[in-house]
Amino acid sequence: MQIVERCLGVRRVRQIQRALRNGKITLFCLFITVLVLRGTLGAGKFGTPEQDFNEIRQRLQSHRSSLPHRALVEDSAAATKLPVAEDEGDDDKASDPNVPYSLGPKISDWDEQRTRWLAAHPHRPNFLAPGKPRVLLVTGSSPKPCENPVGDHFLLKSTKNKIDYCRLHAIDIFYNMALLDAEMAGFWAKLPLIRKLLLSHPDVEFLWWMDSDAMFTDMAFEVPWERYKDHNLVMHGWNEMIYDQKNWIGLNTGSFLLRNTQWALDLLDAWAPMGPKGKVREEAGKVLTSFLKDRPAFEADDQSAMVYLLVTQRDRWGDKVYLESAYYLHGYWGILVDRYEEMIENYHPGLGDHRWPLVTHFVGCKPCGKFGDYPVERCLKQMDRAFNFGDNQILQIYGFTHKSLASRRVKRIRNETDRPLEVEDGLGLLHPSFKAVKVTTAGNF
Ligand code: UDP
Ligand code: MN
Repeated sequence: MQIVERCLGVRRVRQIQRALRNGKITLFCLFITVLVLRGTLGAGKFGTPEQDFNEIRQRLQSHRSSLPHRALVEDSAAATKLPVAEDEGDDDKASDPNVPYSLGPKISDWDEQRTRWLAAHPHRPNFLAPGKPRVLLVTGSSPKPCENPVGDHFLLKSTKNKIDYCRLHAIDIFYNMALLDAEMAGFWAKLPLIRKLLLSHPDVEFLWWMDSDAMFTDMAFEVPWERYKDHNLVMHGWNEMIYDQKNWIGLNTGSFLLRNTQWALDLLDAWAPMGPKGKVREEAGKVLTSFLKDRPAFEADDQSAMVYLLVTQRDRWGDKVYLESAYYLHGYWGILVDRYEEMIENYHPGLGDHRWPLVTHFVGCKPCGKFGDYPVERCLKQMDRAFNFGDNQILQIYGFTHKSLASRRVKRIRNETDRPLEVEDGLGLLHPSFKAVKVTTAGNF
């Protein structure tokens, strides 16, 4: 310091010191900024200031959209000690609105291809018995952990619930966690998945899509398959609400049945164009909101797009679509969950309708995300109640029941016996007739 003072003079050095003190905060900020930017460039790369600047600029430009998102993902992973995949955030890719979207190579003779396959594979018939089609229940969730950790616990319960129903009804299950097409993220992810599964499993007659936030609440109800023998798509809904009112909640795409046909592939092609994320989905959202009754303004969703398709192209699709309202293939949770006690009091499983709903769907709850349309506490409480309501029907087969719809603990409802095979489970669910189907090949093709 003395050498510096000798060279510059004492007065000058004091001036510099004062200036330094005044600019302390500025300098500190600058230092932190450089540190952070260097961090994003990786350690040990010390180029000229110009090189540094160019690298920083390039990096900021190419990652502008993914940086904040990535930071969020890393934060939540650090908190829960879960590893973060290296390519996390890559599916932020938005679509090019100038390139028409396609779900895959055009197929126009699927019915013939499938018929030939079935004839060549008589041990994999598409009907397990007359009137009992081979069904694949398909559900899934995002590849990432839930933003709200309790959401993952709920997904597990919801999956157990589906396994139980499907085991009792001889239905296969496919759980998907892979985003097969980055452009079709979110509620559109089901479209490329469904297409892939129809084509890969020609023995499957009906694919049953079910949202992860929907649960079976009637374990005994068997879908009336015969009713749909002339139809290819079954959704819960009402003709008047769709074709007369164009109401965006006139049907629900959270639980539906789709027959494995060329018609289904064509429908998926006609359904998909509003799906690609980014500009396409946003612009399509505006079209849907202005066309449909009561739809709030938001990006295009698969349900609104289905209503739009049916209304605008009724001639093409209408005669093969069955809008079911005789039982709850999908049931809105808001009108069901407070009535469970009343149902237990007055009715019994196997009815499937307002007396004992087949499905309770937690529309708008977003248990896996952070922001739903309803308070998360109310959703979680009611989801537990719906789970227990359905699970009681499973536990009762084995002589147990939940202490109450709000309780995770169980109690015995039967004494143990040394003649277990003589016990009746009340619902006849342990050895139901629809499960014990004989696999025959005659007359099914
Ligand atoms: N989904 C998926 N992968 C994703 C996001 C969503 O498979 O990355 C599925 C999941 O089963 C979810 C469904 O898409 O239940 C539809 O979304 P959501 O239930 O949140 O919509 P809502 O029924 O509330 O309209
Ligand atoms: Mn849902």
